[in-house]
Amino acid sequence: MFSRHLTKDISAYCHGELSSEDSKQFAEHIIACARCRTKFEEVKLGIKLAEQLPQLSAPDHLWHDLQPLLTNEPPQINLRSRRHPRIQLAAAAALLLIASASGLWLFNRPPSRPYWQVRRLDGTPRIGREGISNNGQLAIGQWLETDGSSRAQIAVGTIGNVDIDENTRVRLLETRATEHRLELARGKMSARIWAPPRLFFVDTPSAVAADLGCAYTLEVDDRGGGLLRVTSGWVALQLKDRESIVPAGAACETRPGIGPGTPYFEDSTTIFREALKKLNFENDSSALTSVLEQARSRDTLTLWHLLARVSEEDRVRVYEKMAAFTPPPAGVTREGVLQLDQKALESWRHALESTWMIMGGKGVFKK
Ligand SMILES: [Zn+2]
Repeated sequence: MFSRHLTKDISAYCHGELSSEDSKQFAEHIIACARCRTKFEEVKLGIKLAEQLPQLSAPDHLWHDLQPLLTNEPPQINLRSRRHPRIQLAAAAALLLIASASGLWLFNRPPSRPYWQVRRLDGTPRIGREGISNNGQLAIGQWLETDGSSRAQIAVGTIGNVDIDENTRVRLLETRATEHRLELARGKMSARIWAPPRLFFVDTPSAVAADLGCAYTLEVDDRGGGLLRVTSGWVALQLKDRESIVPAGAACETRPGIGPGTPYFEDSTTIFREALKKLNFENDSSALTSVLEQARSRDTLTLWHLLARVSEEDRVRVYEKMAAFTPPPAGVTREGVLQLDQKALESWRHALESTWMIMGGKGVFKK
């Protein structure tokens, strides 16, 4: 198994029908292989659509995601007119198109298990009001809670596991083929996920963490502020249209109402990190001077994220500092970067990623 492309296994993977070992190998292949990853995204979308079809209440973003796949569709079918009677036809047509394009039959599969297995590590963790002595099951909507002397481990389907530290409250929000979602209300968890990007999410009071194939810890304090520390792979932190992409060795703080700050490497100088905190969360733009003075070559991770978050004047200073370390690649102009042209920023980021990696890890990719 797995000596070639894995398109035949995508559906089985999405429905939790592969063994843990095969799932892990599958995920590693998907992370490395653009061709299978594209197919995987298509199948994921098809399954999502199949799940939505009976009630026909797919969210707008789903239609938005779908449209690029439907470029060959006759233009008279308007997917956005959701109240139109023809929507049923359009949705069915879209589903069939995806199913046939994938060469897969997506209907009539049993749903994946609607709960997660929980194992006691220490003390007496509780699911709802029940203490668990050895193993328990966490169903959708249920809270798992630990006190000062208990810890637990959750198996996230076949894609990984999450350790829950002391004094932590988590709730299972969703578990299905295309999305696993946990809420971390307070405390600390460590996740190790072997899955293609953006299958496992953690909601916190001040940002959503999206797994991009990785291991990380996430902490939430009593005021809803968060701290993400990534030990391998990548994690994206999001609140509305603000996104921070955090590689191994880096951390990122989040605050309610603000969302994720800029990520920073944990081996950056103390002065750098303290100035960054002022810049991110105290609206103190004078702190940029210290950030720029203290920045090393790999701190372009922080500077790249700052480009879109500082004033136009300050953006020029950030640009100059970055360009002195690693000039933008061919085809990316100073003007493009300063105007925050999305393509220019992405290309520069790809060029910088090698300086952000520990021991030549894999680069991040678009979803
Ligand atoms: Zn492949």
